[in-house]
Amino acid sequence: MDGGSGPGPEPVTAAGPSPAPELAPEADPDVEPLPRGRFRCRLCQVAAANRPSLAEHLRGKKHQRLRSLRAERRAQEQRSLFVSGFARGTAAEELAAYFGAFGEVVAVVMDKEKGAYAIVELQEAASREQALAQPQHTLAGRSLRVRPREQKDFTRPSLGCGARREPLSPGQLEQALCQAADVDTQMEQLVGLLELSEGERRLRHLLVTLFQEVFSEFFPGCTVLPFGSSVNGFDAHGCDLDLLLDLEPTKSLQTSARGAPGARSSGDPGAEESILSDIDLASASPPEVLELVVAVLRRCVPGVRRVRAVPTARRPVVKFSHKQSGLAGDISIDNRLALHNTQFLRLCGEADKRVRPLVYAVRLWAKQQGLAGNPAGGGPLLTNYALTLLVLFFLQTRSPPVLPTVARLRELAGDEDRMVVAGWDCSFPQDAALLEPSANSESPSSLLAEFFRVFGDFDFSEQLVSLREGRVLPLPEAGEPFKLGSLNLQDPFELSHNVAANVNEKTASRLGRCCRDAAKYCRSLQYCRKSTKGRGWGLVRLFKPGAVEPGAGAGSFLISITVAAAQPPSQLCEEPGGHGFKEICAAIAFVLRDVLQCSCVPGKPLKQVGASGAEHSLPQDTVLGDEPLGDAAGLEEEPLQPPVGSKRPQSDRMDGTALPGAKRPRVNGPEEEVVASWSCAVWHRVWMGRRRLRRQLLHGASPEEPDGVSLELEQKVSEAIVQHEGAARPPEPLLRFEASAQLAGGTQRELRVLLRLAPTPAPGPLFRDFFHFLQAFLPLAVQQHLGWGPGAAPQS
Ligand code: ATP
Ligand code: MG
Repeated sequence: MDGGSGPGPEPVTAAGPSPAPELAPEADPDVEPLPRGRFRCRLCQVAAANRPSLAEHLRGKKHQRLRSLRAERRAQEQRSLFVSGFARGTAAEELAAYFGAFGEVVAVVMDKEKGAYAIVELQEAASREQALAQPQHTLAGRSLRVRPREQKDFTRPSLGCGARREPLSPGQLEQALCQAADVDTQMEQLVGLLELSEGERRLRHLLVTLFQEVFSEFFPGCTVLPFGSSVNGFDAHGCDLDLLLDLEPTKSLQTSARGAPGARSSGDPGAEESILSDIDLASASPPEVLELVVAVLRRCVPGVRRVRAVPTARRPVVKFSHKQSGLAGDISIDNRLALHNTQFLRLCGEADKRVRPLVYAVRLWAKQQGLAGNPAGGGPLLTNYALTLLVLFFLQTRSPPVLPTVARLRELAGDEDRMVVAGWDCSFPQDAALLEPSANSESPSSLLAEFFRVFGDFDFSEQLVSLREGRVLPLPEAGEPFKLGSLNLQDPFELSHNVAANVNEKTASRLGRCCRDAAKYCRSLQYCRKSTKGRGWGLVRLFKPGAVEPGAGAGSFLISITVAAAQPPSQLCEEPGGHGFKEICAAIAFVLRDVLQCSCVPGKPLKQVGASGAEHSLPQDTVLGDEPLGDAAGLEEEPLQPPVGSKRPQSDRMDGTALPGAKRPRVNGPEEEVVASWSCAVWHRVWMGRRRLRRQLLHGASPEEPDGVSLELEQKVSEAIVQHEGAARPPEPLLRFEASAQLAGGTQRELRVLLRLAPTPAPGPLFRDFFHFLQAFLPLAVQQHLGWGPGAAPQS
């Protein structure tokens, strides 16, 4: 957890400005030490690089002003009451008149939005005591709850939008990264460009404080603790705000209050109006507690919107968004392990300076490829937590390791670090300075390339990724609580939990494929060397959605199609008989139009154009053929240590992305580049639910029909989807894109065509879904149409 976000000690108790602190600056209770000799002032939420600048800050006007404001607030709190239970629509004046009987009322602050509670400030603390001493309060026939106002930690005023920052546009990010000298610098910069600014951190801190204030009124003693990306060291603009509402202290208070002699059960008439009403938190079910949290959020927290409980989640949460800050968040009521795994992630981020750049790069890459994120309502993608664990595991398995295993961390933990949560050992040192420095000297950019290489050839489904051991383990036996799946990634602490259990086979295989593509790109000159022509290079191309193939331009998506060639590429355009480029193009159009029911209008007639001046040609330096680029770049693909858990070599992949083997003899590409283009529109969600429909259609098939499925079946599947959506074409297509096909090289045996899709307008999630489907479907369907390739149907 970010130390700055938690409630800190409260050093000032008297009203009025206090003198400058005379303590050693770091002994000031407002000051929190940070790693590497830095400090943070909790009060002002600023960091100081060293002791002299900390001392200067503490003497400064801003700090002094906030100290005196805090003292004033504290005195004000000591004169104020928290009042609830009055009828909706009660005016502030009525409350002022009622409490005026105890002494002069200075102010009544109503909960503006919801009218569920009020803060009544009296002129004198003694008047407040008098009001509190009275056992019963009744206003307009309703029993009031009257309590002292909670003492809150003071934070800087104003919860406006000042600290809200617009995320960087992809263009700005690209521009900034292109300026860097090398990929290591790009990775370093990426962290700076994405991480939360001080202002954004402050805003989150204020929000946490606001939640703490309100929840404390209803659940005395509770704590609101941030976890996840706001505090784990892998924050990024706009990341969600994960919160834990710890109600254990409230439960204990409730239990002891109920047991106390003369304890009043809350059977007063105002109780129906009270949110807490008569609920015994200790015996309430999680859905009941969630409903209470929902009620408090809806009725009492200003600016909170779209509140909904998700009681069926593995860890039940209440989701919300906050209007002024634009943040989305979750409140868990039972996830203490999350606090510890967050702390573990933070420790890893601080243990070695390469960790954060690597995690940021992998997270952004995975987001752009549609592999990871936090989709609303779950889904089959990796969560960022799971993805980060994968990176940490990779770093544990380098030789020598960059990070220690969780088992080693346990050995390093001191007595004060010993911790068991929900039966799981969560002991590890809290301070990264206690860890042994890594003897590994790999650069961040080569670690990134290696990450892709290792996981491009990784058997996710047949072994267990164990961060505790820092190696892969055999899968647990069936019948154990661990939920086996397409990707088996063991939580570092809750060992019976597969953090990737939600990842389906399709996402797991796409992860492998995207890693292979990225690994290949990382061997190219474009990854390693800054472009002298102002083109995207290094990380920039890696972050293009779906476009890690050499040749992908801005805003376009590439699909690689490989088919049998009757002739070497140099002759293919003129020679009849084989599978030439023309036939491949015709097959592409057939699949789009006839199989998938898309509109597909030829943009320009098939033509041959010279590479130099071709309108549609790819930039010369990006047409690289199939061979690993290492040769051309003078970079060696090997030697690389055998990847942890790598698969046995696979001769032929059936997912349509198989590219000719790296060392296969290569036929020189043609001098000419061949281009065909189409304007396409997608009218129906033909990529959704195909597997189910296929199954249904096959069950209805006569026994004589051949095994397996065919393009004919795929056509029927599309027709069924169209029928289901209402048969008639909607007035507007769902998606539009320009498609252009280009010969990208080949061998004696095979031709490879790159199909580039350029969506208009800019691609959204719908296009990405369509693209991911088409990327797997089209190559197989084209191969089938040409009578080459596997007989099985494309999987979707
Ligand atoms: P993001 O920017 O996507 O919010 P994050 O670092 O907060 O990134 P999340 O995936 O939101 O990552 O995870 C936040 C916390 O939620 C984790 O620290 C973990 O405790 C819990 N969590 C997330 N995913 C899982 C999972 N698959 N299994 C168990 N716990 C998870
Ligand atoms: Mg999160």
